[in-house]
Amino acid sequence: ATFGSLSDRLAQTLTNLRGKGKLSPADVDGTVREIRRALLDADVSLDVVKAFTGAIRERALGDDVNKALNPAQQVVQIVNEELITILGGQQRRLEFAKRPPTVIMLAGLQGAGKTTLAGKLAKWLKKEGHTPVLVASDLQRPNAVTQLQVVGEQAGVPVFAPEPGNGVGDPVKVAKNGVKFAEDKQYDTVIVDTAGRLGVDADLMKQASNIRKAVDPDEVLFVIDAMIGQDAVATAKAFQDGVDFTGVVLTKLDGDARGGAALSVASVTGRPIMFASTGETLDDFEPFHPDRMASRILDLGDILTLIEQVQSAFDEKEAAEIAEKFATDSFTLDDFLKQMQQLRKMGSIKGMLGMLPGAKGMREQLDNFDEREITRTEAIIQSMTPQERANSKLLNGSRRLRIARGSGMTVTDVNQLVNRFEQAAKMMKTVAKGGVPQVPGMGPI
Ligand code: GDP
Repeated sequence: ATFGSLSDRLAQTLTNLRGKGKLSPADVDGTVREIRRALLDADVSLDVVKAFTGAIRERALGDDVNKALNPAQQVVQIVNEELITILGGQQRRLEFAKRPPTVIMLAGLQGAGKTTLAGKLAKWLKKEGHTPVLVASDLQRPNAVTQLQVVGEQAGVPVFAPEPGNGVGDPVKVAKNGVKFAEDKQYDTVIVDTAGRLGVDADLMKQASNIRKAVDPDEVLFVIDAMIGQDAVATAKAFQDGVDFTGVVLTKLDGDARGGAALSVASVTGRPIMFASTGETLDDFEPFHPDRMASRILDLGDILTLIEQVQSAFDEKEAAEIAEKFATDSFTLDDFLKQMQQLRKMGSIKGMLGMLPGAKGMREQLDNFDEREITRTEAIIQSMTPQERANSKLLNGSRRLRIARGSGMTVTDVNQLVNRFEQAAKMMKTVAKGGVPQVPGMGPI
């Protein structure tokens, strides 16, 4: 999807460094050149590309790298860190007003996905225990009010819309009245949807800026379609000058864009990307984590999200136990089986495997992945003795043969399972300790 080809190229470039003991300046230059090309082809703005590759070059040529045990891995680390930096560094959460209601204003071009986002944000806030209300200040587009009412209904939150005589035609008044409504009825968050235009224009900016002055929002979120490519930077700057905003929301990250907007906007405006929108339904929405996005782009896998999802399927006590096991190296085949069974419970196994490191290379395998795999895993592990499950080191040739016979599988099946388990345990241990995971099947990068 969005970062598909950029991601493939970066991963490929970095993979090419594998096995190099020491990096010559020529190696570094070659790598930096490849990265530069990949970024430019992905529509990342030139200034950002220059800053990014400059930092990588400088650090990769630095002493630390060549003193490192594995310089190539060190470069991956550097690229990862710099990528996190241009994506905004730390995750930034919404700021809530000390005295409710918190007012969140949305701004952006028409079609950016503001109205859809209003619904997504409202639904998410509600899930987080807030009581949002939507305010329809987009009076430009004929259908906008109705559309907001529809998403409001889907999200199960009230929509404040202008009624005849109550400021019809004046978006500033509607916004003000909407905030007053929330105060009176004690809603704790107000999301103000505003009008967009197809392109940046003075009227649009003036209106948005007037709404901003009238309601004094705690957050102004600039909503931008990730697919608009090179226009992203100019649009973002225009909104920064015209309205100013406190955070960015990227929409349509599920699309086929080259991803340049995502990689440029945060560093060009100095405003953090706070949310990502990844589809047309209200649940296709998530808080934006620069570090996770960087890992996704570099194909290191979205391990943290994966772990979170795995954990949410366990109860908390169990999750803490598993984390402890990873960290202390006492994760057993029994735990592995339990985890797989939990994964099955959660449904979308393919989606999760897609987040594992090296997943791109495994895509074909992923497509062949099915329920039977878990059933086979169960059969094999259940044919082991409790001692074997607790300690996979016991599994010598004759035991593996016995297990294969007992489960109706081949010794190769047993071997594959044990290998997968050992890789998973190793990877999780690295992650639990806060390290960079290695890509299974590829060895250390
Ligand atoms: P607005 O003019 O800024 O309010 O934009 P809308 O919310 O009306 O969205 C414009 C179009 O983009 C609609 O067809 C939405 O369904 C679609 N859309 C919004 N967000 C996303 C997204 O994250 N992914 C995809 N694929 N479509 C989206």
